[in-house]
Amino acid sequence: MAFTKKTVRDIDVNGKRVLMRVDFNVPVKDGVVGDITRIQKAIPTIKYLKEHGAGIVLMSHLGRPSGTGYEEALSLAPVAKKLEELSGYKVSFVADTYGEEAKAAVEAVKPGDILLLENVRFLKAEKKNDPEVAKKLASYGDIFVLDAFGTAHRAQGSVVGPAAYIPAVAGFLLEKEVDTLTSIFSEPKRPFVAIVGGSKVSSKIGVLDHLIDSCDTLIIGGGMAYTFFLAQGYQVGTSLQEPDWVERAGEMLKKAQEKGVKILLPVDNIVTDHFGEDAVGEAVASNAIPSDRMGMDIGPKTEKLYADAVSGAATVFWNGPMGVFEMDQFAHGTEVVAKAIADSSCTSIIGGGDSVAAINKFGLADKMSWISTGGGASMELVEGKALPGVEALLDA
Ligand code: ADP
Ligand code: MG
Repeated sequence: MAFTKKTVRDIDVNGKRVLMRVDFNVPVKDGVVGDITRIQKAIPTIKYLKEHGAGIVLMSHLGRPSGTGYEEALSLAPVAKKLEELSGYKVSFVADTYGEEAKAAVEAVKPGDILLLENVRFLKAEKKNDPEVAKKLASYGDIFVLDAFGTAHRAQGSVVGPAAYIPAVAGFLLEKEVDTLTSIFSEPKRPFVAIVGGSKVSSKIGVLDHLIDSCDTLIIGGGMAYTFFLAQGYQVGTSLQEPDWVERAGEMLKKAQEKGVKILLPVDNIVTDHFGEDAVGEAVASNAIPSDRMGMDIGPKTEKLYADAVSGAATVFWNGPMGVFEMDQFAHGTEVVAKAIADSSCTSIIGGGDSVAAINKFGLADKMSWISTGGGASMELVEGKALPGVEALLDA
């Protein structure tokens, strides 16, 4: 499925004031911006708009404010400075979003100017897509651009609201994310290997179900593997398990078999006696997990099995770590799989907050074809759901 909505390329922005929702929800501590990825990824659209003669009004949320007004720790002021530094453009900032001060700053925006408004979530009504919020924000621009992929799955005022009042189109990041994450269902180069890990079957069932419709091989790792083991009649000791989901896990295995999708489950596991930084692991076969042990990572035979499957792939989609990668002694399986993807010539698409954190931890981000900037939004797309922010845009 190609992108079916209008983008900034399809609309004349010259001399117009463009209101653009970005996702600048980056880590900020004591006024210092940590990971700059999301800011960097918004720059191509900003650059395009500026070079095509638009005045730009940017807005974003940051963190989880209480919604009752200004909170210094969640101000976007440091982000404005960082954007200025990364883009090389002058970026003004106004410490207001919905009031008179914001209105005056917006009215002063001329072609080529860039203004960032304060955190849209300082007002509770934003989250509910209150029409008053939507109308107010829409009054700031002639055109609305949505480039905030990371919040495109939320029907909130600044995400979907302005589209009801002014022409609304996508930015380049949003377009690329949606295009890439839907391409694995429409036209994957084969073999297409999907890898799903993380903690729970319950939170990934929609992802598994939809991936089975498209992939050739589905690799399962992480905590969810143990619920699949239960479905196969294995004992899993004290491993993470969801008894209420055993039946659904069994149905997934059956569906895969009917569709001719190969499912790979761990053949061995690194187990330990308690969940903790000082826990020591040992490898055991999947059908021999002792009753007082919990699985924390895939074992060495499984690492090899999974790395081999990845090396033969033309497309890899990965979501969810293979083990408790936050603890170094249980990060090995995730690292081996990440390296196998990095070393392969496949198209590699990574989604999900913790999976991206794992890849960054191993320093392999540059080796991946696409790393999604949206955790929740990427999962909803992979589940096959439409994103409200995208739905609200003009059809191409
Ligand atoms: P993502 O954010 O990439 O979608 P998830 O949130 O589903 O991934 O899962 C990530 C979490 O899964 C990590 O915190 C990791 O520690 C946990 N996890 C992985 N394997 C296991 C396991 N065997 N037991 C318990 N937790 C696990
Ligand atoms: Mg997560």
